Amino acid sequence: MSDSGAKSGPEPSERTTIGITFGNSNSSIAYLVDDKPEVIANEDGDRQIPTILSYVDGEEYYGQQAKNFLVRNPQNTVAYFRDFLGKEFKAIDPTHNHASSHPQESGETVSFTIKDKAGEEEAASTLAVSEVATRYLRRLVSAATEYLGKKVTSAVITIPTNFNDKQKAALVAAAAAADLEVLQLISEPVAAVLAYDARPEAKIEDKVIVVAELGGTRSDVAVVASRGGMYTVLATVHDYEFAGVALDKVLMDHFAKDFMKKNSGAADPRENARNLAKLRLEAEATKRALSLGANASFSVESLADGIDFASTINRLRYETIARAVFEGLNRLVESAVKKAGLDVLDVDEVILSGGTSHTPRIAANLGNIFPQKTRILAPATDVTAINPSELQARGAALQASLIQDYEAEDIDQSTHAAVTTVPHVANAIGVISLNEAGEEVFVPVVQPETAVPARRTVHVSAPNGGDVLIKVVEGNTHIKVTKPEPKVKEDESKAAKVEDADDSDEDDSDFSDEEEEEEKREKVWKIGSTLAEAALKGVKKGGKVEVSITVGSDLSVIVTAREVGGKGGVRGTLTS
Ligand code: ATP
Repeated sequence: MSDSGAKSGPEPSERTTIGITFGNSNSSIAYLVDDKPEVIANEDGDRQIPTILSYVDGEEYYGQQAKNFLVRNPQNTVAYFRDFLGKEFKAIDPTHNHASSHPQESGETVSFTIKDKAGEEEAASTLAVSEVATRYLRRLVSAATEYLGKKVTSAVITIPTNFNDKQKAALVAAAAAADLEVLQLISEPVAAVLAYDARPEAKIEDKVIVVAELGGTRSDVAVVASRGGMYTVLATVHDYEFAGVALDKVLMDHFAKDFMKKNSGAADPRENARNLAKLRLEAEATKRALSLGANASFSVESLADGIDFASTINRLRYETIARAVFEGLNRLVESAVKKAGLDVLDVDEVILSGGTSHTPRIAANLGNIFPQKTRILAPATDVTAINPSELQARGAALQASLIQDYEAEDIDQSTHAAVTTVPHVANAIGVISLNEAGEEVFVPVVQPETAVPARRTVHVSAPNGGDVLIKVVEGNTHIKVTKPEPKVKEDESKAAKVEDADDSDEDDSDFSDEEEEEEKREKVWKIGSTLAEAALKGVKKGGKVEVSITVGSDLSVIVTAREVGGKGGVRGTLTS
């Protein structure tokens, strides 16, 4: 099946294109202004637009206005529906739909019954999830059209890496019914990487990137190899337990208990649907405030039994009570790296994307998992980080601008190769050089997972000059672990720490084990089989040899070696 949209879309010259991220919790739209992607605010001024529709007296509301109706009008409000597109009822998880319109089985698909027309006598309508998606997308397109002052015709939309062909087809059809041509569906992690790589200051270099897409109802982690601007997705993991709503739940439970403690005999606000909805909305607002400040307030009028409730919480306390969720996210990221057959030491960058990525503790924890050289791109750890809530839409808008001039039928052909499935080398290819101690070491020239054809060049120093033998070999990495010398004093302090933790059930310390002497882990290259040898004669003392390795699309290898500034050189070809 093709990822591109209706083939009878507008002519390329007549397109106005946007990037869309269409999430279960929120959606965003972005547009390119002077080659820079910008996330557009809708008519309410929102850039993160809740993916919710609500009907009151036949009037349709969407976004934040619809979200507010979860308290007073939940049965006519549809939320958390994106993941139901293209799925059968028995395959969906309706956990998040308890507090709004319930999904129901409707032939091959899922539907919602809501009263979307005015008048007492009007019957409720049964809307297939595709119709709900179409109505919602229509609102996004109309917001973008109004903002840009011209009719939006086409879009690139981001999707999770585990969307199957049926889900993709359902999304493209829902968009087409909203009069929106889908130029391409691109995967969320690739959109995030594109948004970073498009910055003027970005260096397009070979690197391994972990993209943690942490949303409201799901967390998806991908390990991506970026080799010369080509992206290969090495591994993905998905989780539906540790995400934003799990953090809301922690705060809901905390404030519900706090309320009952301070108002003895009062009802539990979690036992009444309306009170629960109020508790949920305010807990989410408090959670967001805790990403910015060290303290946040919580305040709800008539939380239960007509009693108003106001309280506060500090970040440390929040981080303690939410610890299980944060630890779940750590494990998820670690499992993705492992699934890619890599070690944390192999990772150059971690991009945090999605609303939950604003949480400082999550970014700090990942900083503790990865070595210091790994950049953690999140607002709490890097001032240059892009707003994680905007990454997806920005990446989609960039991709849209790249492909908007193609005819619809050419888009698949011309753009798919940029992302994955191109042939790539399995092992690194490099040269053997001598280190300061005179030992042979492997210098990688072509990194593993590099998409081919590829050409890379290095300079190898020849301190002694004379006749220099260049050996081109394959390389693999392994992790060398050096155990620390045991220190008596450190052990005592650790014992004291364990006792401390025992006397309180809520340990308020931050949870990095700073006192613990960590074993040293480093990535070391292992020299593999020899591919070629080249001898250069009469190299100057202290000179440099330039080695270029070109890997063809048939995995054949061409090696050239020459003295930098010298004359001549050698060249050899190896077939795969
Ligand atoms: P999903 O599809 O997983 O439901 P999404 O991609 O539609 O999610 P996002 O906007 O990426 O939605 O993430 C929504 C989650 O991010 C919500 O749980 C929201 O409370 C949370 N969130 C948004 N802003 C912040 C913030 N500043 N601090 C902490 N959490 C935030």
